[in-house]
Amino acid sequence: MPDVILVTGGTGLIGQAIKHVIETEPAGSRFGKKEGETWVFASSSEGDLRDPEQTKKLFEKYKPTHVIHLAALVGGLFKNMKYKLTFLRDNTLINDNVLHTAYLTHTKKVISCLSTCVFPDKVAYPLDENKIHLGLPHESNFGYAHAKRMVDVANHAYKEEFGCNFTSAIPTNVFGPHDNFDLEDAHVIPALIHKCFLSQKNATPFVVAGTGKPLRQFIYSRDLAKLFIWQLREYDDVEPVILSVGEDEEVSIKQVADAIVKALKFNGEYTFDTSKADGQFRKPASNKKLLDLIGEFEFTPFEQALDETVQWFLKNYDTARTGKIKQ
Ligand code: NAP
Ligand code: GDP
Repeated sequence: MPDVILVTGGTGLIGQAIKHVIETEPAGSRFGKKEGETWVFASSSEGDLRDPEQTKKLFEKYKPTHVIHLAALVGGLFKNMKYKLTFLRDNTLINDNVLHTAYLTHTKKVISCLSTCVFPDKVAYPLDENKIHLGLPHESNFGYAHAKRMVDVANHAYKEEFGCNFTSAIPTNVFGPHDNFDLEDAHVIPALIHKCFLSQKNATPFVVAGTGKPLRQFIYSRDLAKLFIWQLREYDDVEPVILSVGEDEEVSIKQVADAIVKALKFNGEYTFDTSKADGQFRKPASNKKLLDLIGEFEFTPFEQALDETVQWFLKNYDTARTGKIKQ
């Protein structure tokens, strides 16, 4: 039976990056399309995965043999702080529907996407795959974090009770083409690219939320896409894998803002609004398990990836996800 790989959330940042890699890497290569494979990139318009019937219909339509499960209610720090219950409920429903339908339809393998937000707030660094359940997540995103943690619990339970081959990936903060560039709800890189672009266009100050001191590990969506394809083809264990750059590659929010200013050649006023939340100060994650398993992997340098993202945003401003109002 030929492989049908269904990517839920296929229209989003990571889904579109996987599509790009599958379509541009040489056919038959480690990350390229294999002969006989069909890839389906599903949008929410094909089925709202919070609904069990619509989930069932999507699986009946494509009959996937494999699922990369990306669909989720997603957002940056400020959206997570505002909608804790909605993050908990929507993501719990989506994950339960996808995993249970995959089990009922004998899907051979599911990789679900978690996030380093799922880890405990107070835990010894660096984070690794054994520390997910050792304490409470940061209060700013506990709704999202608890819903996502439960996927790891469900994966183990599906394996032990039914022998399912379900696993998960844990990326750090992701950015790239096709991101959500909403001013309020997006993650820091797309939000700041959009804000800096508007400051330049309207000659207004570029205001970065918080102190600029928190540290994050950022991964380029097109690098992450390759890691998902690797995990799909070459990793068969229930335990999650952190998909990240090295723990020594933390970048401060100020460095992010500086890189955006440089990429956009912005030369106006640039300030920090310290009345806004910083969120978790840092959450460095180890990529040792990934590197031990995958062997050689070359990550795109941060500034190059940021520049490619900014150029994509400038080229696609009219159709990019920038929120309701074009200013
Ligand atoms: P994104 O760009 O916001 O895309 C979200 C995707 O999910 C879209 O394709 C959307 O479909 C789909 N979706 C949302 N609600 C849905 C529903 N009720 N039914 C069906 N589909 C639904 O998100 P992303 O950044 O690519 O995130 C993908 C995964 O990575 C998520 O699981 C997220 O938690 C995880 N993750 C993201 C980051 C990050 O920094 N972005 C970091 C760690 C983990 P439509 O657009 O068609 O509505
Ligand atoms: P996180 O990595 O899960 O915390 O999520 P984000 O991508 O939202 O990053 C949050 C960090 O970026 C916090 O330290 C914020 O204070 C900082 N930040 C600065 N400006 C912005 C902004 O415009 N939007 C967002 N989401 N975060 C910002």
